[in-house]
Amino acid sequence: MKKVKIQVCALGTLPKDLNKIALSKVKSEIFSIEPEIHTYEIRVESDLYDWAYSDDILATLVPENHEADILVVLTSVPLELNYYTRRLHNNVIVFTFHEIGKYLKFDNIPLGNVVKRLFYSYALAYLRKNQRIPTSYELSNFTHDDTRGCIYDMNGVKEDISTSCHKPIVCDECCDRMKTEKISLEIIKAVKSELANITKNRYFVIADWVKENPISSLFISSVWAVSLGVLGSIIAGALSGA
Ligand SMILES: [Zn+2]
Repeated sequence: MKKVKIQVCALGTLPKDLNKIALSKVKSEIFSIEPEIHTYEIRVESDLYDWAYSDDILATLVPENHEADILVVLTSVPLELNYYTRRLHNNVIVFTFHEIGKYLKFDNIPLGNVVKRLFYSYALAYLRKNQRIPTSYELSNFTHDDTRGCIYDMNGVKEDISTSCHKPIVCDECCDRMKTEKISLEIIKAVKSELANITKNRYFVIADWVKENPISSLFISSVWAVSLGVLGSIIAGALSGA
């Protein structure tokens, strides 16, 4: 199968702790990322309340014609209706870290995880919708309001975004929908497998486990302390006998 070609670009200033190079190196069986991430400046003022930028203005700020199948535009400014993603014409997706970045940092999730999740949800949407992603003003049925940790969670309550940025899934309902939209079982299987690699850093995974299992972690640390003591005694005994 031909991979969906995704071009990423930055619009305005992005969070300093976003690893853009890592994003351009994401490997997948269903999409490929163009290696260069170009940055475009924002030299116009916002046109909506609360310093938000409308879809119409955004469309003038990004390249009109891109050569990829999907153009993912990353920004930090508020978007129309305070959404975190807007779908423009010509398969252009605009994603903002406004508010979202704060929630991800609170849950110790790398900012790149939400972008990786976006790659999967829109690469699949592109395939599901006959290579044309509907704009935000068109009806679409590929999200659901219920938060399940799925790449198609709507996240109307933005805090819920963290749920699908650490080992996200494709829920049963979305799998069934995709099967009726001619997405092959092989693609669904590959996506599920690759999504398992979108995780928090190992340190925070361990910290979360300790928080959720205080008794077990106390037991393990006690056993570890006793083992170290015994090992120390054995080494001391060996050294004094030498
Ligand atoms: Zn789902």
